[in-house]
Amino acid sequence: MNPRLPEDTHTHTYLCKHAGGEPREYVRRAEKLGLAGMVFTDHAPARDGYDPKNRMEEAEFQEYVRIVSAARDDSPLPVGMGIEADFYPGSTAFLTEWLPPRRLDVVLGSIHYIAGWGFDNPTEAHRWDGTDVEGAWRSYFTLVAQMAATRLYDVVGHLDLPKKFGHRPSDMAVCEMAAPALDAVAEAGMAVEINTSGLRRPVREMYPSPMLLRMAFERGIPVTFGSDAHMTEQVGMDFDKAVALARETGYTQYAVHRGRKRSMETIPG
Ligand code: ZN
Ligand code: FE
Ligand code: FE
Ligand code: ZN
Repeated sequence: MNPRLPEDTHTHTYLCKHAGGEPREYVRRAEKLGLAGMVFTDHAPARDGYDPKNRMEEAEFQEYVRIVSAARDDSPLPVGMGIEADFYPGSTAFLTEWLPPRRLDVVLGSIHYIAGWGFDNPTEAHRWDGTDVEGAWRSYFTLVAQMAATRLYDVVGHLDLPKKFGHRPSDMAVCEMAAPALDAVAEAGMAVEINTSGLRRPVREMYPSPMLLRMAFERGIPVTFGSDAHMTEQVGMDFDKAVALARETGYTQYAVHRGRKRSMETIPG
């Protein structure tokens, strides 16, 4: 059967301690919506006490493999196993060693901290008040460029995450600070995801903004689609809007990763 919507390449499991639902149910939801497939990309473990409350333990990875494989086994849809790995200064040492033997389909690279500040965490959002917004965004995009330079990741997760609670510099400033970061992303051969979870946040806008997506398109950067589902009902959420945005921007294809190799598929619908 022809899929109605693209693969969902960004979904979580309960192992990260802040998501609910059964992986099997996520897959069933994807199937019901007519998605081309889905990929679990739960939060990767980290060391040195980095944000342990929001990720699986290193020792839990085997269970992750088990639950994703079980969900795949009784699914008519292609189900991938990826990971969302944080980038932060110092993350490279662990990931360089940890990622290669894991046999993952895709590695999303995400930045959730600026200098120890969990800027997208609701419990730390108050710090946006009194913060130099443009300066924070600038630091963030510097991290994006550094992340790309590590060559450890396949896809940039939620490219303009700092806008989550509505704090955003002018388009001109964003364009100027994102340009070198996107150059680095293109240079690294990474894709950028269209992440619909922003629509569920105070900003009420997908990541990235139409402007940033256009900048990615101009650089030949491929896209993936992700719901960032932390609950069953969020799988494939607002994918019709994401597909519309991709098309308006000029995209006719999207990237699918298996065994960390990329193929390009026609955007369905
Ligand atoms: Zn999460
Ligand atoms: Fe994330
Ligand atoms: Fe996520
Ligand atoms: Zn995420």
